[in-house]
Amino acid sequence: MDSKPNQLHMVFFPYAIRSHMIATIDLARLLAKQGVKATIVTTAICETRFSETIERDRELGVEISIRIIKFPSVEAGLPEGCEDSSSLTTPEMIPKFLHALTLLQHPLTEVLEECQPDCLVADMMFPWATGVAGNLGIPRLYFDGSSFISTCVTDSLKRYQPYKNVESDFEPFIVPGLPHQITMTKLQLPTYFTDTTDKHGFHKLMDQILESDLKSYGVLMNSFRELEPAYSEHYTKNMGRKAWHIGPLSLFNSETKDKAQRGDKASIDEHECLRWLDTKKTNSVLYICFGSVFKVPPPQLRELAMALETSALNFIWVVRMEENKEKEEKKEWLPEGFEKRMEGKGLIIRGWAPQLLILEHEAVAGFMTHCGWNSTLEGVCAGVPMVTWPLCADQFDNEKLIVDILKIGCRVGAQEWSKYEKKILVKKEDIEKAMTRLMASEEAEEIRSRAMALKEMARTATEEGGSSYSDIVALLDELRALKRSK
Ligand code: UDP
Repeated sequence: MDSKPNQLHMVFFPYAIRSHMIATIDLARLLAKQGVKATIVTTAICETRFSETIERDRELGVEISIRIIKFPSVEAGLPEGCEDSSSLTTPEMIPKFLHALTLLQHPLTEVLEECQPDCLVADMMFPWATGVAGNLGIPRLYFDGSSFISTCVTDSLKRYQPYKNVESDFEPFIVPGLPHQITMTKLQLPTYFTDTTDKHGFHKLMDQILESDLKSYGVLMNSFRELEPAYSEHYTKNMGRKAWHIGPLSLFNSETKDKAQRGDKASIDEHECLRWLDTKKTNSVLYICFGSVFKVPPPQLRELAMALETSALNFIWVVRMEENKEKEEKKEWLPEGFEKRMEGKGLIIRGWAPQLLILEHEAVAGFMTHCGWNSTLEGVCAGVPMVTWPLCADQFDNEKLIVDILKIGCRVGAQEWSKYEKKILVKKEDIEKAMTRLMASEEAEEIRSRAMALKEMARTATEEGGSSYSDIVALLDELRALKRSK
């Protein structure tokens, strides 16, 4: 029974990849602060990454709790602890992992049967969740961790297959039917489009994911109307989806502790990191981070190290290495004596950085990013122009939004979509060029003022009466009406 009459009880079911988890936890906390009773269903490993934050909310009287379920790794033939795609070390593990994801429906159903919530918010990675919720007579909201633009690009590519009309990997083609003229090359396409063998069954899951937003009750988008209006309209009007803008979710973290611990415990003391930034002039530091999953290959890191050494910029560089390989890889990517020479000018963080705190610091003038959607939004919210370096996933689409449409970034010129080794290196000279253009050219001021204007728009969207705020109110009103009508 609800403790308050007509109080909504919502269950949140995130996917274990950090960026998906971070955004879903932000969302659950936000709605709980709006009076929703929130239950997060996750595994013991994931829970450790955000339990302290949830505990702080609970101490403040917010109705939010965590239910632990077991990830069926062993049942699916995987080693214990293998709970997300970043922990897969061989291609043979992929089908087992996909099977494990489907097995999750059993423990989730048990929790739902016991809690009897009014709504299930499940990550896009669980297309079956709509059926699970339907069996219990409750709506499933599809939580999409990516941008409107990339969702629209994917839909157009799937519908029209324009890449089939080009002869080489480098020949540009237009992605048809979109609000802007977007060109791509085959080299920038996800393997979902280019590899037709689907050896491991991942493409089948992608197909199910791409259909399941339409089948669910509606879609929650971590974006705001003013950021990509033409694409949110295309998504709802032309693609026929029902969507609520609920972002940027990162803005709902107001406490320093929450920002410092978001996603994981930082590998550097947040005060030490901020003290280092305090010693730098306003707008003099480049922050470099390629997200939470993908590891940039050592030869590419070396090009970046050389570019940083010759530039006049201060920098904070977050480096993620294969565990246990750091010593041997260090020789490959760090030029001899680099760290000694960079003392005072550069700070290297190995592991997890308190990204929100860093981006918000006034010393930070630029963000070199892989254009993951959360990082993109966080750059926008901080008003920080971006040096764009997409690696894979939806990142090439987000780069187009940042550089060509919003004009708040410069690209290093990454050409190749790949999760693993890259055949084409981005050269030191191109990296330098993009950094200088963004931070020390005539154009830099214009780019910065556009970024600052977007920062304001993001804030307004999440404040009372703003576009995302109003969408959240409308969503909760609709769910309450649905509950009453039962
Ligand atoms: N992040 C962080 N510290 C790090 C690396 C990443 O806090 O050292 C956070 C970042 O703020 C963002 C998320 O992890 O919220 C990364 O998500 P994104 O969608 O940008 O990229 P992905 O990790 O999915 O590639």
